[in-house]
Amino acid sequence: MNVVFIGPPGAGKGTHATILSEKYSLVPLAAGDILRQHIRNKTELGRKAKDVIEKGELVSDDLVNSIIFHEIEAAFLQKKGVLLDGFPRTIGQAEALDKFLTGHRSALDAVLNFDTSEDMIIARLSGRRVCANCGANYHLRNPLLRPKKEGLCDKCGQPLTQRKDDQPETIRHRLETYQKETAPLIGYYRRKNILYDLHGDYDVNEFQDEIQTLFEKLKLTV
Ligand code: AMP
Repeated sequence: MNVVFIGPPGAGKGTHATILSEKYSLVPLAAGDILRQHIRNKTELGRKAKDVIEKGELVSDDLVNSIIFHEIEAAFLQKKGVLLDGFPRTIGQAEALDKFLTGHRSALDAVLNFDTSEDMIIARLSGRRVCANCGANYHLRNPLLRPKKEGLCDKCGQPLTQRKDDQPETIRHRLETYQKETAPLIGYYRRKNILYDLHGDYDVNEFQDEIQTLFEKLKLTV
């Protein structure tokens, strides 16, 4: 099966993508994580994306499509489905994804819309910390995501930093970008009858239960 998570930054998509992809043996593909890895590795693509990401704007469709389609192909070769987190983010990306999947005799099974209040988004993003070395995510106030040693990554021991695009001004700009570019996808997928709304202010466990009930109802399996 192939699933898409749509929702504003800070809606908790990444946390749930990690848990669900393990449970359902899906390959999680987070466009933002892949782009940040390119920035850390100082690739040509990373150089092109860095300024755009730090301003809270969207990287071009062509660039994102090519990296994501490459990863989806790798997942399909392993006979696995994908859980797309933060892709597509524009109607152009969604149309290109449909075409790509049809060309691979595949399709999307469900699009989960994380409907989250602005207060919750600001609280989540302002407390988020990332490892500058390996990209692992933490949260200052969420007991499930707090690092074991303050300020240091559990996985590689390197210092944690705040993402430049998690500063208050940029958060606001990212939310505007979401409303303008990404929110129209809700109607796009609703018209295709594959959109399911989830209320994103629940705690992690309640939310997982809600998603699992939905998957069972839809009889979504690997
Ligand atoms: P995220 O980690 O999902 O919040 O993404 C961080 C940033 O990466 C976004 O604010 C965009 O600048 C860029 N980005 C991530 N996914 C996409 C996408 N599908 N299309 C364009 N830009 C993206």
